Amino acid sequence: MQRVFILFPVALGAYEYLTDLKLQVGQFVLAPFGKKKTVGIVWPEKSDDHFPENKLKKIDSVLPEPALPEQTIRFVNWVAGYTLAPLGAVLKMALNPQMGKISRNPLIFLPPNPGHTQIDFSSVQLKAVKAMHNLSGFKVALLDGVTGSGKTEVYFEEIAHILEQKKQVLVLLPEIILTTAWLKRFEKRFGVAPALWHSSLTPKQRRDTWEAVRNGSAQVLVGARSALFLPFLNLGLIVVDEEHDPSFKQEEGVLYQARDMAIVRAKIADCPIVLASATPSLETYVHAKEGDYLHLQLPERYRGAELPETRIIDMRQKEKGPVHFVSKELQEALAERLPKKEQSLLFLNRRGYAPLMLCRACGHRLQCPHCSAWLVTHKETHQLQCHHCGHTMPIPTECPQCHEKGTLVACGPGVERVAEEIRTLFPNARIAQITSDTLTHPQDFAQLIQQIESGELDILIGTQILAKGHHFKNLTLVGVIDADMGLAGGDLRAGERTFQLLQQVMGRAGREEKKGMALLQSYNPENLIIHALSQNDRTCFLTEEKMTRKLLHMPPFGRLASIIVSGRNQVITWQTIQQLAIKAPVKPDIEILGPVVAPIAKLRGKFRYRLLVKAPKEAKIQNYLHLWLDSIKIPASVDMRIDVDPYSFF
Ligand code: ADP
Ligand code: ZN
Repeated sequence: MQRVFILFPVALGAYEYLTDLKLQVGQFVLAPFGKKKTVGIVWPEKSDDHFPENKLKKIDSVLPEPALPEQTIRFVNWVAGYTLAPLGAVLKMALNPQMGKISRNPLIFLPPNPGHTQIDFSSVQLKAVKAMHNLSGFKVALLDGVTGSGKTEVYFEEIAHILEQKKQVLVLLPEIILTTAWLKRFEKRFGVAPALWHSSLTPKQRRDTWEAVRNGSAQVLVGARSALFLPFLNLGLIVVDEEHDPSFKQEEGVLYQARDMAIVRAKIADCPIVLASATPSLETYVHAKEGDYLHLQLPERYRGAELPETRIIDMRQKEKGPVHFVSKELQEALAERLPKKEQSLLFLNRRGYAPLMLCRACGHRLQCPHCSAWLVTHKETHQLQCHHCGHTMPIPTECPQCHEKGTLVACGPGVERVAEEIRTLFPNARIAQITSDTLTHPQDFAQLIQQIESGELDILIGTQILAKGHHFKNLTLVGVIDADMGLAGGDLRAGERTFQLLQQVMGRAGREEKKGMALLQSYNPENLIIHALSQNDRTCFLTEEKMTRKLLHMPPFGRLASIIVSGRNQVITWQTIQQLAIKAPVKPDIEILGPVVAPIAKLRGKFRYRLLVKAPKEAKIQNYLHLWLDSIKIPASVDMRIDVDPYSFF
């Protein structure tokens, strides 16, 4: 009899078992676990505090599945160690849910044809292509170029290069619903579609794709962040497109930043990784400036298509007549384009009709019963909706507080309300509202793109769902309804995110020979970010942001971890976080900030409090957190969420 560790795909660590079978690390086995027999993986030994032999159970049998690749096991261990998530929870992301079931009709992934493109690369593009071809082993390259500079074209060429070496390629894209255009391009370039990995695959598609990645028949896999955990055997390149995108941070379950973990994955595979962006994250930018990353720049739009002319519209100058959400200047710019059949995009990152409803008679504001958040009016569905927990209710006809009738008014604009205004101002224009409420399936998106491309629409009004990835040759005007919106609040990255998002949105205008124009409506035109945007001056913004973060020892110049404690009983929850704070080990270089009420004080009926741990860059923040938290017992009614490198500060 021999001892082995088995890891199950549940939120626990590895367990010791006994066996007389000859087992190898990574093999799939069936073993008694709780009351059932469960599929687990033979895991490398991790500790020497062994259990007494008479308490150990025996492994049942070995499954005929080929073993989990060694690199995947190392990656799972690494991610769990870094994020402090239970090892089994990370393993779960690396397995497919139909373990042990063999597919009857496996999907077939045809090999892409890496052959040569018809493309005539410009000299800067060619320089980037060559630099990438010369990479060998692990190296991070930042492909940094304005929208339309040919980044995709350039990394396609590198994908072709890796395919010629018969290695696998992983491409991470932020939001899979937006990839129709990307996929079309891929197919055109490589002759076949790549394998896909995202949350709307059926269990069978998951099983088949997982299998195809492991046996190597899926040579290029495109996916959302969880694709990182697929069992690649022979990974030769990772591309992270739109590397700055906030959706790479997973905010539920295992909290990880997929871009950062992709770098770790590339290191384990000893292969290059390309981060592509027109607005790199400050983290990546600093690494590139310091020479840790290869910095490949494509400073111009391909064939010199000019960047849009940009102007700030100062909304403080009171307009005569009735107040509009769309200013006179923006209205004029829209009006100019209609007869020319040029398209316009109005951007407002807020779904629904209005963000707040209040009673004119008593001042009562309608709040979600489960969250500390206002209910958003959705006129089209006749509902009030909480954008945090999804709670909905019909729009009431009287104030729930003072019971006056007809006194409830909607305050502020959402996309629906801007659309309503545009319909009144331009009754003949063909208008589309574009938000996640209206686009739920990838097919809807494909259809919309088709309508835009064939000129069936004049004015698009939408949220960030429209910000990236598309290239509409007739779109010459972008109007940002509320440029200041993202800047409020104490979020570390609020400024950075606003800059990136607005710069991307503005980049939608004038992608071909017709010159584009971007108008930014702001009540705060002196703000550095608004100013930098209007001047198209990324360096000004990045330099300033870098200085501020450095001064405050904030990421990437320092480390953060956040601890959020939440529970239905407010007193117990508050006492728990206070106890936690009191027991924090004292270290000269580590600061504990809080406890404070979390920015969203109540979410889904739970009260929330927060602690922030701030440490120097070199500090092993994980060791500190273990030292602190491993010995503490949290009441069962209270949840604790540990987020290493937090991105959202809600
Ligand atoms: P980015 O990814 O930087 O936004 P793309 O790769 O999408 O840029 O390029 C923008 C457009 O210009 C695409 O239609 C692309 O096919 C085209 N393009 C880029 N470089 C070239 C080139 N060297 N020759 C022909 N077309 C190019
Ligand atoms: Zn709610």
